[in-house]
Amino acid sequence: MGKITGFLEFARVDESYEAPVERLKHWKEFVVTLTDDEAKQQGARCMDCGIPFCNNGCPVNNIIPDWNDLVYRQHWEKALDVLHSTNNFPEFTGRICPAPCEAACTLNINNDPVGIKSIEHAIIDKGWHEGWVTPQPPTRKTGKKVAVVGSGPAGLACAQQLARAGHSVTVFEKNNRVGGLLRYGIPDFKLEKSNIDRRVAQLEAEGVEFMTSTYIGAETDAEDGVTVRTPESLKEEFDAIVLSGGAETPRDLPIPGRDLKGIHFAMEFLTQQNKANAGDRIAKQLSAKGKHVIVIGGGDTGSDCVGTSNRQGAASVTQFELMPKPPESEDKAVVWPYWPLKLRTSSSQEEGCERDWAVSTKTFEGKGGKVEKLVAVRVEWFKDKATGQMKMREVEGSQFELQADLVLLAMGFVSPVQGMLKAFGVDIDNRGNAKANTENYATSVDKVFAAGDMRRGQSLVVWAIREGRQCARAVDEYLMGVTTLPR
Ligand SMILES: Cc1cc2nc3c(=O)[nH]c(=O)nc-3n(C[C@H](O)[C@H](O)[C@H](O)COP(=O)(O)OP(=O)(O)OC[C@H]3O[C@@H](n4cnc5c(N)ncnc54)[C@H](O)[C@@H]3O)c2cc1C
Ligand code: SF4
Repeated sequence: MGKITGFLEFARVDESYEAPVERLKHWKEFVVTLTDDEAKQQGARCMDCGIPFCNNGCPVNNIIPDWNDLVYRQHWEKALDVLHSTNNFPEFTGRICPAPCEAACTLNINNDPVGIKSIEHAIIDKGWHEGWVTPQPPTRKTGKKVAVVGSGPAGLACAQQLARAGHSVTVFEKNNRVGGLLRYGIPDFKLEKSNIDRRVAQLEAEGVEFMTSTYIGAETDAEDGVTVRTPESLKEEFDAIVLSGGAETPRDLPIPGRDLKGIHFAMEFLTQQNKANAGDRIAKQLSAKGKHVIVIGGGDTGSDCVGTSNRQGAASVTQFELMPKPPESEDKAVVWPYWPLKLRTSSSQEEGCERDWAVSTKTFEGKGGKVEKLVAVRVEWFKDKATGQMKMREVEGSQFELQADLVLLAMGFVSPVQGMLKAFGVDIDNRGNAKANTENYATSVDKVFAAGDMRRGQSLVVWAIREGRQCARAVDEYLMGVTTLPR
């Protein structure tokens, strides 16, 4: 603990954002990283608690008090080493993690928590800027070959750990670029794609091979123009296979009018804009320009649709959430150190968006096959006395209509796409995820492992990194009998 009285002397200072009116003119990141002095002062607020709850709140168990102290002392390179010891990609989490660590910070009980995420962001950005992030190729090769299917954060973390352990790793990706949802889900204004590219270059220098536009599974399930590799051919060539294909099946809204033009899944819309930003030509790109946009779903994906619609020049953006409006602040005595349910406003919502809660959409209506409006009702939630579960009922007479030129469905993801799992013949759990535990990450099929959203369902980048790392350890142990990779 660098400064014993730091938490009494210094207030929390958040990273600043470029003003909405300015940042809406471009697609780049708009968060201003803390200066060295600001980070030093924020690091001084850490109390180095005997039991660091933040360390437990963080899914990769970042050793937060240690790097807070090192930043306070301005030992940045050491801070980076500590950060990298638990997290392969802090530049992703330092930008887009919701920071459950901060909810768990002891200071959060009666004060503002330490700005852990902003310090993490400052450490890794300085690390890249100073040239401290370099390839770490293995000193010896094991002669074992591992295939990783899917290049999202789970696949990338797993591949990096396995390559550093000396295995020959090939990452297969059906898309034309590496990164999974980091690349084609999350918009550039939250995560510029150069962050992925420089990590991929590091992985390549460590020996990882990337095969993009390559679908793993049955020929009949593959999109046109991609190379197909079957599970059998992979099993023949590789000593172990990790399935980290994400959870890409979106939740649909099968109500009257769903087939009208102008109603799309969020990922269709977001992927096209991310590709356009990367310089691809998109034939008939979906655009919110001049349109009244309704986003159905109040989570991260919905927020990304809001920010993208506003940048495209939407006439208006409205976001519906089925659940009731959460309280402005949590009862910390009840929920700390856990992630609280409370009203949060994302930077995209701040840029301009009507938000409405406890709304259920009943029908889409339109003319000439094109959506023009939606009809919705208000709902109320109550506890069912018999089951104790929360249920919803429509509020009588609450029906209303809203103009809708573009509707984006962002109601979450139900499961992984089943094709590849079926092709491998792996057992699935009752939610359709690949069945594997978090001890050995092994599926029901010999030498086939699963990690990330494909195993746990749609989650967070930080959880994907954790699973990728832990799965790599399990695979290393499976291949070598022993492992020194961290869990
Ligand atoms: C729009 C959106 C915004 C989000 N925002 C955030 C956020 O701000 N913060 C946060 O922490 N989390 C966020 N998430 C969640 C986060 O992105 C995911 O939890 C995380 O990316 C999961 O990582 P993964 O590696 O398991 O899978 P993914 O990132 O989904 O990657 C899986 C990859 O596998 C590939 N693949 C699948 N099947 C095959 C196959 N058969 N052959 C070859 N390749 C295949 C896919 O093409 C994909 O590239 C967001 C999600 C979405 C959709
Ligand atoms: S990865 Fe997320 S939870 Fe962990 S320290 Fe960083 S911001 Fe906090």
